[in-house]
Amino acid sequence: MRNKGKDISSDYPNLKQLISDMFETMYAAKGVGLAAPQIGLNINLFIVDASPFAEDDDTMSDAEREKLSAFKKVFINARIEREEGDEWKFNEGCLSIPGIREDVMRKPIITISYMDENFVPHTETFDGIAARIIQHEYDHTQGILFVDKISSFRKKMIAKKLKDIENGLITPKYKFKL
Ligand SMILES: [Zn+2]
Repeated sequence: MRNKGKDISSDYPNLKQLISDMFETMYAAKGVGLAAPQIGLNINLFIVDASPFAEDDDTMSDAEREKLSAFKKVFINARIEREEGDEWKFNEGCLSIPGIREDVMRKPIITISYMDENFVPHTETFDGIAARIIQHEYDHTQGILFVDKISSFRKKMIAKKLKDIENGLITPKYKFKL
């Protein structure tokens, strides 16, 4: 999980099957995003489907809810080109780090270029929770975990648990959010 994901080409073996298996794994774990390095593949690929978020959270605006309910995408060979705005706090969890949720500061608006599952290139701008999910998953393809972005005080508070996870003493059950 600490390795950088390599870019792939359209002839990557069994790509369609891999993507469909990843969606299945993510849904079974009640996640809204999953990156290939989380399942042991060091390639630059992640998926998102934020529709469960839209159903769950009654604090968000109707506009955000509508946006998220349609936010299902495959990101291949992604690059975040720009991050803008004043950092905001959001409580993140991770399928690979069970039992830990922490507030993470990130910028609210991102522009990302990527290929979709048919290797059609896109450059798009996202904001709000959609941007947040992408930032979290994109970090996985860079070998970065959300706990790398929290305060050193909070890091100390959860240090033992993180060490246990890294040493394989705690196995992710894939029941957390991103
Ligand atoms: Zn994660």
